[in-house]
Amino acid sequence: MSFIVNYEFSDEENSHFLRQILQFISTHKITPTPINYALSYEYVSGSNKKLIAAINSLIKDQKNIDNEIATKLYNKFIYDVSYESFDKVNQSLESLINNTRDSVAATSQKASDAGEVFAEQAVSIASVKNTDDLKKVMSEIVTEAKGLADVSKTLKTELDSANQEMELLRTELVKARKLASTDALTGLFNRGTFDKMLDRLVDQNASSEACLTMLDLDHFKQVNDTYGHLIGDSVLKFTAKLLKKYAEPQHYVVRYGGEELAIIMPDTSLKQASEIAENIRASLESSRLKKKNSSESIGKITVSIGISKLKQNDTKEDFIMRADTAKYKAKESGRNRVMTETVD
Ligand code: GH3
Ligand code: MG
Ligand code: MG
Repeated sequence: MSFIVNYEFSDEENSHFLRQILQFISTHKITPTPINYALSYEYVSGSNKKLIAAINSLIKDQKNIDNEIATKLYNKFIYDVSYESFDKVNQSLESLINNTRDSVAATSQKASDAGEVFAEQAVSIASVKNTDDLKKVMSEIVTEAKGLADVSKTLKTELDSANQEMELLRTELVKARKLASTDALTGLFNRGTFDKMLDRLVDQNASSEACLTMLDLDHFKQVNDTYGHLIGDSVLKFTAKLLKKYAEPQHYVVRYGGEELAIIMPDTSLKQASEIAENIRASLESSRLKKKNSSESIGKITVSIGISKLKQNDTKEDFIMRADTAKYKAKESGRNRVMTETVD
C-alpha cells in the first residue's frame, strides 16, 4: 500500500491547491460538495496516484463526474484505502496468529496420536514371540517415527515463515509509526510529535535543565519568489539536515510549521543551547547554496533563532512563547542572529 492519506501540506501549498481546485471544478463542471472537494484536493495535491488515474480516464472518456460517480471514487480511493492501510496490518497479524495456532494444534495432535501408537507397540514388543513379529513391530515404529519427523519438519518450516512474516509486519509497523510522526519534506519530527514531546518534557519537570530553540528562515518568501517553490523546499531540507548535524543525540529536531523549525533540548543549559544555535546560524550563513545541475548560486540564506529555558511551573505555552518572543527580537534587531530569553 503506497498511498496513505496525508494532509500535512504547508499553508502556502494549500492555497496553491485551492486555486487549482477551483479551476478544476469549474473546468469539469463539478458541484462543490465536500466529497468532490476532497476528491479534487487529492487530485491536485498529487499523491493518490490511483485516484488520479481513475479521474484522468473519466476525463479522457468525457464522462461527467456526477455525485454518484464522485461518491464511488471517494469510497474506493480515499475512504477504503486509508482504512485499509491501517486495517491491513491488523488482519495480517490475526491470520498469522491463526495459522500458527492451527499448525501447532495439528502437530500436537499428531504427536499425541504417535504417542498412543508407540504405547501400543511397547505392549506388542512385550508379547513378541519370534523375529518376524519383532521385525513387524520395529517397521511400524520406524514408519510412525518417520511420520512424526515429517510433521516436525513441516511445523518448523511454517514457524520459520511465520517468523519472517512477523519481521515484515514489524518493519511495516515501524514505517507506519514513522510516517505518522514525521514531516514528509524534511524527515524531521512533525508538529504533532513536537506537542507530545514538549508535553512530556514539561510534565516531567526534570531536575536537569532543558531548552527550546525556535528557528525561522529569514525572508523566505523572497527566496520562493526569486527561485521558485521547489528551490525553497530544497533550502528547507538543507537547513533541516544542518539542524540534525548540530543537535545532540538527546535533542528532538522538529518542523514546527512552514519555514519554522525547532529543537527540543532536554539536558541542555542555556549556554550550550546558544552555542549550538550559533553554530547552526553561522554554518547556514556561510553555506553557498547552488541550484542543482547548475552553478547558479542562491544568495545568502540566513536564520533568526530564539531560545527559552524551561522554568519550574512553566506550561508548554509559556515555554514556547518565551522562545518565540526571543526569536521575534532576533528578527527585529536585524535577523541572522541568536537571542536567548531574558533571564531573570
Ligand atoms: P521573515 O524574515 O520575517 O521570517 O520573512 P519571511 O518571508 O520568511 O516570512 P513569512 O512568514 O512572511 O513567510 C514565510 C514563507 O515561507 C511563506 C511561504 O512562502 C514560505 N513557506 C512556508 N512553507 C513552505 C514550504 O513548505 N516550502 C516552501 N518552498 N516555502 C514555504
Ligand atoms: Mg515564519
Ligand atoms: Mg521567515
